Amino acid sequence: MRTSPNIIITGTPGVGKTTHCQQLAESSGLAHLDVNKVVKERNCDDGYDEELKSVIVDEDKLLDAIESELEAGGQIIDWHACDLFPESLIDLVVVVRCDSTILYDRLKSRGYADNKVEENMDAEIMEVLLQEARDSYAEEVVVELQSNDADQIDSNVERIEAWIKQWRKDHEDS
Ligand code: ADP
Repeated sequence: MRTSPNIIITGTPGVGKTTHCQQLAESSGLAHLDVNKVVKERNCDDGYDEELKSVIVDEDKLLDAIESELEAGGQIIDWHACDLFPESLIDLVVVVRCDSTILYDRLKSRGYADNKVEENMDAEIMEVLLQEARDSYAEEVVVELQSNDADQIDSNVERIEAWIKQWRKDHEDS
């Protein structure tokens, strides 16, 4: 049985997932499971999408690669998708959101090609990741948090930390 929760931090590229995960890992002691890194380091890729300039992920390989970590618990999963992780192993899904004008600037400053910026902007405006989270997990497990400025990161991280404390307390009792 897990003694620490598994948390997914998801959202459109550029909304602030990695920034949240790094800060939360530092303050909570949970592990930052950067899925992009795992895919690269543990060979979970299945080719490259030239048009979108991104790696195609073999989800079965990825799940096999991180299964034992998820079973052990205490993972902060950093990825732009959430529907592949088994519901039984996920305790909280945080969907990070960002205003589209701010997101546009962040994606541009990353040097993304226009079609990639456009695809991600559309995804954010259409709430694709929020919908995916709501379709894949129970309502009470999914929270949506804004990440337009640094103060919002701080308050989001504090809020998640408080949730982790409560989760541990509840699970100690049971
Ligand atoms: P993601 O992991 O979702 O792709 P990142 O965490 O890498 O996003 O953030 C993308 C860029 O936006 C980084 O340069 C980061 O410093 C900046 N950023 C993210 N969240 C915020 C925020 N709330 N306020 C200001 N800058 C932010």
